[in-house]
Amino acid sequence: MRTLLFSAGALVSLTLAAQPARDPSIAIQTPVIALLHARVVDGLGHPPRENQSIIIRDGRIAAAGPDAEVIVPADATVRDLAGKTVLPGLVLVHEHLYYSVFAPHAPFHLNEMEYSFPRLYLACGITSMRTGGSIEPYADLQIKRRIDAGQVPGPKLHLTAPYLEGKPAAVAQIDAVDSPEDAARMVNYWADEGFTSFKVYMHLPVAELKAVIAAAHQRHLQVTGHLGAVSYRTAAESGIDNLEHGFFAMSDLNPGWKDNDQPNSIASQKAFAEMNPDSPAVAGLIQLLVDKHVAVTSTLAILETFGPECRIMSTAELETLSAPARENYLSSWAAVHARKRGSEAAAWAKLLELELRFFRAGGLLVAGTDPTGYGGVVAGYGSWRTIELLVSAGLTPVEAIRVATSNGARLLGIDRETGSIVVGKAADLVVVAGNPAAEIADLRKTELVFKDGVAFDSRKLFDSVKASVGIE
Ligand SMILES: [Zn+2]
Repeated sequence: MRTLLFSAGALVSLTLAAQPARDPSIAIQTPVIALLHARVVDGLGHPPRENQSIIIRDGRIAAAGPDAEVIVPADATVRDLAGKTVLPGLVLVHEHLYYSVFAPHAPFHLNEMEYSFPRLYLACGITSMRTGGSIEPYADLQIKRRIDAGQVPGPKLHLTAPYLEGKPAAVAQIDAVDSPEDAARMVNYWADEGFTSFKVYMHLPVAELKAVIAAAHQRHLQVTGHLGAVSYRTAAESGIDNLEHGFFAMSDLNPGWKDNDQPNSIASQKAFAEMNPDSPAVAGLIQLLVDKHVAVTSTLAILETFGPECRIMSTAELETLSAPARENYLSSWAAVHARKRGSEAAAWAKLLELELRFFRAGGLLVAGTDPTGYGGVVAGYGSWRTIELLVSAGLTPVEAIRVATSNGARLLGIDRETGSIVVGKAADLVVVAGNPAAEIADLRKTELVFKDGVAFDSRKLFDSVKASVGIE
């Protein structure tokens, strides 16, 4: 039961009490756990293996293999997982701890979802995640500390600093960088505060982008970008580590457009719809990204919400929304859905096609939820949607799971620790009552999420956030 605290005195005494009760969403918290008779999808792209056992000891994977070969310790807490699948905890990399509140009469505004989003992300199986740009940096830091201390449930967080944006800044809550020197100053300031990656945004010019990359790389930290005023080619040649939104934010193909021009989404969509993926310009760009080891983040769930064919949220998703957020979402969805169909369908097909080609060419494709826009994507449910859409793009379910697990871990440099089911790694595991290797939508049957060997009940986490999103 949660208590609303209105007085600062009450808040202080709660903080001093400090010894948190065990969270009611914790299902298993014992040192030795045996998961028996499961189907295992290892996150590395190997075919699923049947009749497998996994032993967890002190938060790590102590043994894994065929049932007949794994010895079950006498003191183990045993779970029979016949008919169920175990996969690694998801590692998604374009996440946010905020949600858009998009009232038609008011400016675009972003609210920190300190309570609901960490729970929603964990409930859907995300055990590690990188935020993709911060709106309330000190809240993000505090949420990470509380999760790490075991005070609240949530994934292991890797934090990206506040957006490094040019002019005009897209949202009032985002500052605009004044010069390359200012860009470097901001990188160093937020790195000192504890942020480990940086995101350049749509209007940042080339010189500032280069200054961000130089300052971040000097500290061995990464830079990703939702580009607009810089081409993908220039960013790759300048040493950027990662590009957000697949190929959606690419200005490279717009006729007459050059670096430092303003992004033009209408021109981009038209150019996209008409592009030939076999052309030297497109094929050469994909090869450049592969050669330069630039990762590409697929965020198909959020991009889907902007087209007139956008699906509507499931009942379960709608139930997570607070009443005003639901009203905002449903009216925005209706307006988008009623829009005249233009070149969206052709552009959408090309987006899927380029992500598939990048993946097949050996590029590091990673995935993210990006719960932004008009509020059509919610943490957790939207995370599943983004993985389902990778399968729509042509990846096999096993490949899509790899993108959402070990590929994300590789990008974050934590692949020795998590992202695959290998003896010695952290026991970050998801138990699904179905077979997502055959039917990716079975991810929605997630039952248990292990983080460092502690199992959370997915259903209880979802139940704990009903009617929360948009407010808390
Ligand atoms: Zn984002």
